[in-house]
Amino acid sequence: MKFLSFVDQGEPRLGLLLGDDKVIDLTALLAPRADHGFDAIPVNINELISLGEEGFARIQACLQDDLPVGASRPLADVEVLAPLQMTKNVFCVGRNYRDHIIEGNLARGRPANAFPEAIEFFSKPPTAVVGHGAKVRRYAELTDSLDYEVELAIVIGKRGTNIAREDALSHVFGYTIVNDITARNLQQRHGQWLKGKGLDTTCPMGPVVVHRSAIDNANNLDVSLSLNGELRQSDNTSSMIFSVETIIEQLSAGMTLEPGDVIATGTPKGVGFAMTPPSCLAVGDVVSATVQHIGTLTNTITA
Ligand code: MG
Repeated sequence: MKFLSFVDQGEPRLGLLLGDDKVIDLTALLAPRADHGFDAIPVNINELISLGEEGFARIQACLQDDLPVGASRPLADVEVLAPLQMTKNVFCVGRNYRDHIIEGNLARGRPANAFPEAIEFFSKPPTAVVGHGAKVRRYAELTDSLDYEVELAIVIGKRGTNIAREDALSHVFGYTIVNDITARNLQQRHGQWLKGKGLDTTCPMGPVVVHRSAIDNANNLDVSLSLNGELRQSDNTSSMIFSVETIIEQLSAGMTLEPGDVIATGTPKGVGFAMTPPSCLAVGDVVSATVQHIGTLTNTITA
């Protein structure tokens, strides 16, 4: 099941994606069933997640009845929001794909095979998050090297601290896509990555959150990114050095993960700054980030 958060006549709505391009308004669909044990009908994915496993099962039961396909509308006709409203930073993993680490090392004049021994965690603030179709600012006054990074992102469904790797997937609600847009000069200049990764609009997310039941193995998904139709990144999450389970285990050690938290898992090779010559983002560029079984997140770069 693929969920999205959208707006209908100014009102927030929880949507269910049918096929690639049709949306069912779940908030409207469930409203007459308020007696089916819902304290409140969810109006976005955060509220859906907060219902927990039981609430999710109730929704599934309601949807066992015939879905009113006639009540669907074209995806193109709705205003899609970022799937999650972030109350805290988006967690991110840096340098998790072997070939991307090599290209970065070479671009920065380091030994090619210097790989991280521990996961490199950083974060992006909620003010950076935008949805599918939103415009991403170019920030010509701040950076000469705004870059793209397609990433599989984990959406946490159940609170936990010190989560064992064998329990990790039970804490996952589902998965989405993040484009970890990065100002490379700021990333380098400030030592810590927060500034270079934290500019407003530089965390496109979505378009949907896919429930974990629809993903057999998150560590075996094709990921790709195209810039103006040109394929720039193409790999599979099986190339990640640190798996989804390892990331959850290590991030949650002594640090509580909460429902609605998002963890971006790193990007494969093919980023613009490592190309010869470097080829980063320009005003008017259209960036499409795709993860298998989730969809495609498309955004345009604007002045
Ligand atoms: Mg990244």
